[in-house]
This record gives sequence, C-alpha cells and structure tokens, in this order.
Amino acid sequence: MATIITHPIVPIAAAYLIGREKVSPKLMFVACVASIVPDADVIAFRFDIPYGDQYGHRGFTHSISFAVLMGVIATFFSSYFNTSKVICYAMVFIGCVSHGVLDAFTNGGYGIAFFWPITVERYFFPWQPIEVSPIGVARFLSPRGLEVLISELWTVWLPALAVIFWMKRKSSKA
Ligand SMILES: [Zn+2]
Repeated sequence: MATIITHPIVPIAAAYLIGREKVSPKLMFVACVASIVPDADVIAFRFDIPYGDQYGHRGFTHSISFAVLMGVIATFFSSYFNTSKVICYAMVFIGCVSHGVLDAFTNGGYGIAFFWPITVERYFFPWQPIEVSPIGVARFLSPRGLEVLISELWTVWLPALAVIFWMKRKSSKA
C-alpha cells in the first residue's frame, strides 16, 4: 500500500476537478473511505490466506470490478449525498480504483489483481517511484516510514495539491 494518509488525497483532488460545489462533504468523506477500504484485505493475513491468493492482500479488493461495485452501491445513496448518481459513482469509483493504481506504483510487495475476477494475475506499473509502505503502525513509525512519506510527497501529494490549487484559482476567477 501507499500510506493510509496518502490514498484520500486522490478523491479530494478529483472532487476539485469535478467541481467542489457538486461534491457534498458527506460524499467526499465516503470517497476518502473508499480510497482506503481496499486495504481492509490485510485481515486475510490473520486468516492465513496467502498474499498471492485472490482473496489475499492486493487481491480482489484492489480490482477494478470491486471499485465499480462500490461506485454502483454509492449511487443508491445519491439523495443522501445531495448529488447526482453520476457524481456519486464517479467519486466513489475514483476513490476506490485509485487505491490499486497508487499501489501499482509502489516498489514492493505483490502486484495488484486489477482484472479480478477475469484473471487473478497481479500487475505493477513499469515505473514504481513510490516506496512501499510497511504494514503495521509500529513499522510505519520508523525511518523507513519517513522515507515512504517523502516518496509519496513527491509522487502523489504535489501533483494532487497542484490540481487542487489550479482548480481553486480557476473557480475563484470565474
Ligand atoms: Zn493497498
């Protein structure tokens, strides 16, 4: 995984691209949650499900189909989120699918089962600039954790913040 604090910046940047006023705080929150939900699969380790299994870490919860499913479920709550079904779908889908995408840019662990259930094959991008995050809080609070954060700062935070500031400037001029 990339870290739990980095995944949500993607749906936040997406909200600015879509139009911040169209995305209610509730929907923004759920999209941020959707961006970290795929890592709930680390529970598989507890059940002795191997990392490489389709139900293991970076398995089905990191797939595109899982993100589609999350997006579809979100559309049923569009009135609760005070927005259209399309925006509900887009925000939750982007939040969830971006998780696997960021993970595929990391330089450790196993690849991502993007195309589950069609194939259980694991994929990485050819370019892996993000230091893989250690699993577990203790190991995260270490020099290694800092290295991870610095790599995420350059590769994820800066581009995302650039999008947010750019869109803010555009909307304040309009
Ligand atoms: Zn992950």
